[in-house]
Amino acid sequence: MKVYTIDTDILIIGGGSAGVMAAIRAKELNPAQRVVVFEKGQMKYSGCIPRGMDALNIVTVPGINSPEDYVEDTIIGCEGIIDEGPSYVMAQRSWDLMKKLESWGVCFPKYNGEYEVLKAHAKGRYTLTMKEPDLKTKLYERVANTDTIVLNRTMALEFIVEDGRVAGAIGMNIRTGELIICNAKAVILTAGGAARFGLPGNGYLYGVYDCPANTGDGYMMAYKAGAELSGLEYTLHYYIIKDISSPLLYITLTRGAHLLNALDERLDLGHPSIKSIIAEHQKGFGYVRIRMSHLSEEQIRGIEDILFTTEKPACERFFKGRGVNFRSKDIELGPTETYLCGGHGITGVVVNEQAAASIPGLYCGGDVANVGRGHLSGAFVFGEIAAESATAYVATIKDGKADATGYLEEITRKIEGLQNNRGNITIEEFEYKVRRQINEFIAPPKNEYKLKRGIEVMTGMKKELYEKVKIGRIHDLVKVFEVESIISCAILSAHASLERKESRWGFWHYRPDYPNKDDKNFLKHVIVKKGSNQEPELVLRAPQKVLKRSADAERRV
Ligand SMILES: Cc1cc2nc3c(=O)[nH]c(=O)nc-3n(C[C@H](O)[C@H](O)[C@H](O)COP(=O)(O)OP(=O)(O)OC[C@H]3O[C@@H](n4cnc5c(N)ncnc54)[C@H](O)[C@@H]3O)c2cc1C
Repeated sequence: MKVYTIDTDILIIGGGSAGVMAAIRAKELNPAQRVVVFEKGQMKYSGCIPRGMDALNIVTVPGINSPEDYVEDTIIGCEGIIDEGPSYVMAQRSWDLMKKLESWGVCFPKYNGEYEVLKAHAKGRYTLTMKEPDLKTKLYERVANTDTIVLNRTMALEFIVEDGRVAGAIGMNIRTGELIICNAKAVILTAGGAARFGLPGNGYLYGVYDCPANTGDGYMMAYKAGAELSGLEYTLHYYIIKDISSPLLYITLTRGAHLLNALDERLDLGHPSIKSIIAEHQKGFGYVRIRMSHLSEEQIRGIEDILFTTEKPACERFFKGRGVNFRSKDIELGPTETYLCGGHGITGVVVNEQAAASIPGLYCGGDVANVGRGHLSGAFVFGEIAAESATAYVATIKDGKADATGYLEEITRKIEGLQNNRGNITIEEFEYKVRRQINEFIAPPKNEYKLKRGIEVMTGMKKELYEKVKIGRIHDLVKVFEVESIISCAILSAHASLERKESRWGFWHYRPDYPNKDDKNFLKHVIVKKGSNQEPELVLRAPQKVLKRSADAERRV
């Protein structure tokens, strides 16, 4: 295998929403600094927004709400397990971010001169309608107009750590197998969450809600380098269009659709959260459905316009194929696979207000970072912040060189082991088994027995991965590395779930052996990091508070 080396000031890992924004901002701040991006797919269409999106979920609109309001609201959503500082900064910068995107030609429609701000949170309205089918392309073109080196089809495998500082990474071209050593003065990690985690009900390995290229590689690279992570026990499921795993709920509910359970009872009166809809499903009253037959033709067309152009255009073919016309037929929703994510959930590398991880040289943004439930706004804002902090840090590093020999040897050893084993299981079969076991042992409902068995099973499979899987081509190899990340995430998730001896976040961390919420002992983050004996080390830490509150309000929080 060929190996080549490049040097840069900033290396960005993952060219999705946060990564594209980080690259733009790094070049805005200092056009002379060198920026390299490793992107597993093709940056023009990669990540959660391969095309567009219908809303920027968190924008604090002057006159409607404030960053303080948002933080109070998100504390409710996260049930107290959230560091207020990063969320506050994200909300504070969200309006300027939206105006910046607008100045780049991103469409935020106005009705009677006002932006449309919808309610998708418990109390306030923060969800600003966006109508931009070409969002990712527009952002990508801004990067393409700079001298940023975008290495598409390049999967980051390992960080290079030099004297305790993250000093670059090793990547692999997923088509040629070439290895790339990238020495960097600072690294921005924006590789998304672990979307391919549990197995979806539709049975397809890639038929998941979130971007299937996101296999928790970022979590695992950060963990191995010694960074702190938290929220790994927040094993999320969404409730969206059954089988195609596409979002629909808030697009329709905020525009007058009804939400019905199997008994035809309405659930949309009040504020149905995903958590409450999943609870309805668990009670046996699913599949929950969306009904639009009472809406006017104009309203239905408006919804189709968003769904069939902006979010996932494949939905149009999907519904046509199933003979579902919104004017007469309900839309069945269903639970997604279980997955780990910082944007929809609270799983991620612990970062401060400057997007800095707990080890020098590493900055994180988007779903890989824990800026609780920041969605696209969090990815964009923390992509920008990460670039600002990394740019400042680069100026303090004189020599960016690092020694990658040990890392390279380990990767080569793994590859040679795979080439020489006598395995006869395809990587797809193996991934299917791993993810089925995640459904069995790691996904909720959880209990001590299942979680311990989960660790045992996953640890065994991690070993078998390199002994029993047959490798025919480079793609197989890449998938082995992905599956290793999935397994490692599952092990950490089980450890964190064992540590949280309570139930919290509805079904997402439901432990029937500890069925109640226990604020006295567990209104805390479960922080996971690699211990000195290479085993996960877990500590409980109180969430950071920055808002000034009266004693009364403090008690309510
Ligand atoms: C279907 C869907 C609809 C959504 N709708 C909305 C909405 O309307 N409003 C809203 O505010 N939020 C929405 N969200 C959430 C929002 O899109 C995400 O929180 C945000 O885009 C995450 O950005 P990210 O950069 O962290 O991840 P991504 O955009 O997924 O980018 C991660 C990138 O990393 C790459 N990558 C992964 N591993 C590696 C590796 N090892 N090496 C190199 N590259 C790697 C991937 O290929 C990918 O391009 C939605 C999410 C989904 C999935």
